[in-house]
Amino acid sequence: MSIYDISLTLSARLPVWPGDPPVVLEQVEAMDKGAEYNMTRLAMSVHAGTHVDAPHHFLNDGRTVEALSLEVLTGLCYVVQLPHDVDEITAEVLRRTPLPEGMERILFGTRNSRWWAQGVEEFQTDFVAISEDGAQWLVERGVKLVGVDYLSVAPYHASVPTHRILLQAGVIALEGVNLSQVPRGFYDLYCLPLKLAGSDGAPARAILVRRP
Ligand SMILES: [Zn+2]
Repeated sequence: MSIYDISLTLSARLPVWPGDPPVVLEQVEAMDKGAEYNMTRLAMSVHAGTHVDAPHHFLNDGRTVEALSLEVLTGLCYVVQLPHDVDEITAEVLRRTPLPEGMERILFGTRNSRWWAQGVEEFQTDFVAISEDGAQWLVERGVKLVGVDYLSVAPYHASVPTHRILLQAGVIALEGVNLSQVPRGFYDLYCLPLKLAGSDGAPARAILVRRP
């Protein structure tokens, strides 16, 4: 069985969206300092690292993260690797990309994943993401979970339309996956966001298991 861990490692060095709180992992009890045990405190935005967006992120009356369906978060998934000259995942790009019919879960590998492979710590604004018409295309084809390999499904300067279209349609956005080592093909996705009450998103451990 080959398992691909597509989750980012949470640490203070991970880039976060400009203005968002940084990831803080602080040792509050340390055996090196005489404590009987080690204990770490975690502080971060729920949109740091590998995470899912719940509809409540962009729709004020939308459902919150603990209500997302595990049946959507796990199951057969197709990983696409887009050529590195693709700047935006538009309807036009999707039309010319060979995608299996009826896929409910699709993860898009792009040139973004190279930044994770290289350990780039500065936030990049020129990441590849899904355009408004690309989001519409995915919704019309019945996609229920879409994953991208940088920190937003939407382009940096146009966050609202792509998020609204996907979240309004009940599509789960999985953001910040590292697909640098994952070949195109079919996998079982296991994406388990933390069960946070009333939250607009949650960090997730996400893995892919290769289908035979
Ligand atoms: Zn998010």
